[in-house]
Amino acid sequence: REGRRPLIAGNWKMNLTHLEAIGMVQKLAFSLREPELEAAEVVVLPPFTALRSVQTLVTGDKLEVGYGAQDLSVQDSGAYTGEVSGAMLAALACRYVVVGHSERRAVHAEDDAVVAGKVRAALRHGLVPILCVGEGLEVRRSGEHVAHCTGQLDAALEGLTAEQLTEPGGGSGLVVAYEPVWAIGTGEVATPEDAQEVCGALRSRLAERFGAETAGVVRILYGGSVKAANTAGILAGPDVDGALVGGASLDADEFAQICRTAA
Ligand code: PEP
Repeated sequence: REGRRPLIAGNWKMNLTHLEAIGMVQKLAFSLREPELEAAEVVVLPPFTALRSVQTLVTGDKLEVGYGAQDLSVQDSGAYTGEVSGAMLAALACRYVVVGHSERRAVHAEDDAVVAGKVRAALRHGLVPILCVGEGLEVRRSGEHVAHCTGQLDAALEGLTAEQLTEPGGGSGLVVAYEPVWAIGTGEVATPEDAQEVCGALRSRLAERFGAETAGVVRILYGGSVKAANTAGILAGPDVDGALVGGASLDADEFAQICRTAA
């Protein structure tokens, strides 16, 4: 995959207290070895309430485990009860933030405009958005899945430049995750060919919009019922640079095995 370091990100969703989070990260760090953590980037995405504990553990014990949040506000501060800003996440040294997860789009009615606003909010604060796109079953059955996903990508990145998607050191400031809604939490994983088809199309679209150089460094993940047993197949596609893992990230042994397979 052209020098792109695989990224395995565990989306814990609304699970684990801050105390349980500490146990999970300790277990994970214990079962992964240095060469594996160098070969693949391992990231956890706890609920907001566990971020400070994870930060303290990771920095105190110098663990090679990254972390980030599952969502952020479009706004930077002010009278937005219950919201958490990009500035607050940056102050906790989060590197990543998930934007546009299908559960946010469906359960919290986040439309393309909100998702685009959250991508901008993340970039403003030096956070790397993990931008989720993906089609539902109806769209998949209609055969329009590639256009649907590239359309969501276009809408989320509307008006941005290649410079805004590039980190000061020249690395990518964006991660994209292809998460077919019909595969999330259902046990029904996409085939390696399905994953590659859409991830490849997303990279081509990034190249059209931002140039081949930028597209070549953006990591594009697959997400949807990833387990240790199907990781190797999914990651075989040349444009599939890692996985966004939901359910299986709550089992430290299973998640560590996914990370080892990716390394
Ligand atoms: C997710 O919610 O990002 C996800 C991929 O979930 P699961 O792995 O449980 O399908």
